[in-house]
Amino acid sequence: MTVETEAGRALIQGRLYIGGTWCEAKAGGRFEVVDPSNGELVGTMASARADDAQAAVDAAAGAFAAWAALPAVQRARHLRRVAERIWAERDRIAEVMTREQGKPLVEARGEVGMTAEYFEWNAEEARRVYGDLIPASVASKRLAVLRQPVGVTAAITPWNFPASMLGRKIAPALAAGCTVVCKPASATPLTAWALFECLDAAGLPAGVANLIAGPAGPIGDVLLTDRRVRKISFTGSTEVGKDLMRRAADQMKKVSLELGGHAPFLIFADADLTRAVDGLIASKYRNAGQTCICANRLYVEESVAPEVEAALAERVRRLRVGPGLEQGVDVGPLIDGDAMTRMRAQVEDAVERGGRVVCGGQRAEVHGHLGGHFFAPTVLAGLPRDARVAREETFGPIIGLWTFRTEAEAIALANDTPYGLAAYVYTRDLGRAVRVAEGLEYGIVGLNDPVPTVVQAPFGGMKESGTGREGGYEGVLAYLETKFVSIGIGEAPTA
Ligand code: NAP
Repeated sequence: MTVETEAGRALIQGRLYIGGTWCEAKAGGRFEVVDPSNGELVGTMASARADDAQAAVDAAAGAFAAWAALPAVQRARHLRRVAERIWAERDRIAEVMTREQGKPLVEARGEVGMTAEYFEWNAEEARRVYGDLIPASVASKRLAVLRQPVGVTAAITPWNFPASMLGRKIAPALAAGCTVVCKPASATPLTAWALFECLDAAGLPAGVANLIAGPAGPIGDVLLTDRRVRKISFTGSTEVGKDLMRRAADQMKKVSLELGGHAPFLIFADADLTRAVDGLIASKYRNAGQTCICANRLYVEESVAPEVEAALAERVRRLRVGPGLEQGVDVGPLIDGDAMTRMRAQVEDAVERGGRVVCGGQRAEVHGHLGGHFFAPTVLAGLPRDARVAREETFGPIIGLWTFRTEAEAIALANDTPYGLAAYVYTRDLGRAVRVAEGLEYGIVGLNDPVPTVVQAPFGGMKESGTGREGGYEGVLAYLETKFVSIGIGEAPTA
């Protein structure tokens, strides 16, 4: 639903979607959503409380039996229809996303396309949820293994990929026969609302997918304590993920956790250095560095470090910072003022400890956008190994550069973190590529590849970056229980 502002721009009014019906929150509250590029109001979203969350769980629980029983080919048809709607609405959803999240429109379009692809891929996977028949040890038994949906699933998602993180959960959950209650981040609920318009238009049965947005505390309490919610699928910070895992343990709910990352980017002297720097730019500055798999720590073999630093600085200075809706912008705003404060603190810490600001290092002034959270793409060098930027998830357009001398040292530096989501390696030596990829304690390794995210491959982290995988065939498995049925068939009648 939209209304016109005085300036003629559409002010979006998002609503909750519960039991197949668009609705306001029972208490009638709404919260504001602002554009991070100028601080202006993008719209408002209905603000769900505990009673709305309860209604959403009721709806999902009520719809579960029929949805789970629907033949997989029919569930697949529903998913394909959702994908078609998303493709048709791609530009509109992308614009909503850029307005509330800030990323350049071209990136937002890419993300919406990927969201549609999650539905397409999982429509296919729905038809391939197989069981097993195991040879028994005696003639009087048959041993069957069934794969059945876990049940009602809570999908809790972050603001940095407001559409694809939802798609990566909703699509496999529905493919498996689960029903879902989605809780998007409070900074970006309107993209979720726009996505749910597609689910609604595709004619999903009522209650199969539900949308609630609002304060995380009371909503989270309902999702974690209602016994009918059998699975929590969460993408967000490691801190919140750990808290949810502890609380989910009370009822032994299944959990999938996609958490923070602190990706190392290794460049060996034998690498194609031009490709490596191109790759680094793509990995680091996409989404203004607010990506869980963004390169955060650059480790370069000592002999080529000056060359890489100079080439990187030259490329970074050319990046255009500005509002995501403007054509030709490479780097949009950060999500909020807290993110700006974190960037400044990381740079200050680096300088205090003797580091050099190679480029950037401060707020970027963008003409006509005084209220925007723009930070200049930044490269830091000459840093101690324990600088803040080496230890903390950056989640912004800053990268620190360190050097190494040996392969073993590079691997050790890369693994020296509690995180284990994504890592990148640039080398042309095949043996080294294999050794380093095997030695990295990361769920995803980009080998001469800065963008390793595709719908058909598993995505997820080791160590404190999470548990479980999304995407690929494993994506659906995460929403299935294995049931063993031991069948006694008696003795064969004697002739
Ligand atoms: P966040 O603060 O952990 O929030 C994520 C989601 O959890 C939001 O919807 C938030 O709601 C909700 N939430 C917060 N506290 C909760 C609680 N007690 N109970 C239930 N829900 C709760 O993370 P974020 O700042 O949105 O996202 C950035 C983080 O996500 C980064 O660490 C990034 O690395 C990670 N991330 C990981 C992946 C991956 O695949 N591994 C992908 C993208 C992002 P509110 O918004 O209402 O607080």
